[in-house]
Amino acid sequence: MSNVYLNYIGGEWVPSASGETFESRNPAHPDQILGLFQRSNIADVDRAMEAAAQAQAGWAATPAPERGLILGRIAELLEERREDIARTITREMGKVYAEAAGFDTQAAINTARVMMGEGRRMLGQTVPSELRDKFAMVIREPIGVVGAITPWNLPILLPSWKLFPALLCGNTVVFKPAEDTPLVGTLLVQLLEDAGVPKGVVNMITGYGHEIGDRFVTHPAAQMISFTGSQAVGRLIASKAGGELKKVSLELGSKNAVIVMDDAEFDLALEGALWGGYGTSGQRCTAGSRVIVHEAIHDRFVEAFTERARQIKLGDGLDEGVQMGPLVNRKQLERVHGYIELGQQEGAKLVTGGRRLDDEMGGHFYAPTLFTDVTPDMRVAQEEIFGPAVCIMKAASFDGAIDLANSTDYGLSFGIYSGDVNRVFAAISKLQTGVVNVNSPTMGVEIGVPFGGVKNSGNGLRESGTAAVEEFTELKSVMVDYSGLHRRTGINEDVTEVKR
Ligand code: NAD
Repeated sequence: MSNVYLNYIGGEWVPSASGETFESRNPAHPDQILGLFQRSNIADVDRAMEAAAQAQAGWAATPAPERGLILGRIAELLEERREDIARTITREMGKVYAEAAGFDTQAAINTARVMMGEGRRMLGQTVPSELRDKFAMVIREPIGVVGAITPWNLPILLPSWKLFPALLCGNTVVFKPAEDTPLVGTLLVQLLEDAGVPKGVVNMITGYGHEIGDRFVTHPAAQMISFTGSQAVGRLIASKAGGELKKVSLELGSKNAVIVMDDAEFDLALEGALWGGYGTSGQRCTAGSRVIVHEAIHDRFVEAFTERARQIKLGDGLDEGVQMGPLVNRKQLERVHGYIELGQQEGAKLVTGGRRLDDEMGGHFYAPTLFTDVTPDMRVAQEEIFGPAVCIMKAASFDGAIDLANSTDYGLSFGIYSGDVNRVFAAISKLQTGVVNVNSPTMGVEIGVPFGGVKNSGNGLRESGTAAVEEFTELKSVMVDYSGLHRRTGINEDVTEVKR
């Protein structure tokens, strides 16, 4: 019998009004069911939003340093439960344990710590007033109820980027984890409850986005929708929630590029490109899915890359020595394979991989794949494959490499390997992207800096670091006139004496 997990609304673990559940399965062993989860419906959305709305004033009135202490407790519990959480991440979405523990969970711990500190900052501003005997300042206030919708590929980090700053800033939250990772979402919410987050301040409903999404993103109680996921769903949410004049934050996909110049440290660039391409089986918004290599080292690089790609050990991410896990589900496997077939039809050269391994390995495994002879007009060079498929493109010059990198509608995490400081700074300036990595892989980000993309990778907001405080607060401008005079304009002499 599988465990049945519940929604969390108003501080209670409750079943969905639908009476229905859905399964979460292990992608490395699809016959293994991790649990049954509530298939929430519109009544559950309403209930969760109302619970969040009710709890909001009390939470907003709690001093920010006190809210920060709860964030500190969350960091401690994440440390204590790191192994259990990371093992669950691996079992539920497939990435290898070292990534689940060392990046996903660690980044959530770091986020909680940064946010604990923000409880004593949340800086506003004072500005010089235009008038004598007047004081002007800007203070930060919570937005209200935040609806948070997350994908499955970083199932603890991405919720932490939304929930932790939203809560720290005095908002209450309704969280909908991805349907592929409801167990990790449940572990996180259990942890928040154990850390002392008051009833109704965080609420979670599990279920299918296409069934409850419309009500979720247009619910009158929600003042902000914070979404990370695909461009297609992001556009839908932007139009629906935007139509209701809600604040909408979108972190979407990308087709990242890493440039490898002829003056790069060859082995360093090779390691970075392999990790950027095949880490998390390529299922990262920051995956280095395009590698743009200078023609002087192109053939040597392709040869070395191919040799290493063929040696990658696939398997259950909990097994010793495994370097790459399965894709998250069968649909994703089919999608990736469809792109590989498309790439060949478009004229790209399949150098290695291009094979489904589900029959021989049991789980949703796909061979690390490399295309060369890729040109910018091909769909495999433009669209996010979200699998272990790297496109190597050849550039004749530095400027040509920059043009190739910028030749997509996306711009999230780009990079350059070069030993020439002039080229590095020129690349930092010319790459159209939200994040630049120099001599390091495109994947991953430091928690202290803002994260987000340009072009179609987002809508201009930033998560992570102190930028998250800007994202999850409203600014209130306050002017205090202590002159005792009635002043109709901004001219000091334009005064009317008011009798006291
Ligand atoms: P997805 O867009 O299919 O789903 C994301 C979430 O949206 C899920 O929780 C899903 O249930 C929900 N959803 C689906 N339809 C909805 C609807 N109509 N209304 C409301 N919610 C709905 O994406 P995915 O396949 O889970 O994740 C992969 C995508 O996420 C990739 O494109 C990847 O690049 C992107 N991503 C972006 C970042 C970033 O920070 N920029 C980080 C990680 C992943």
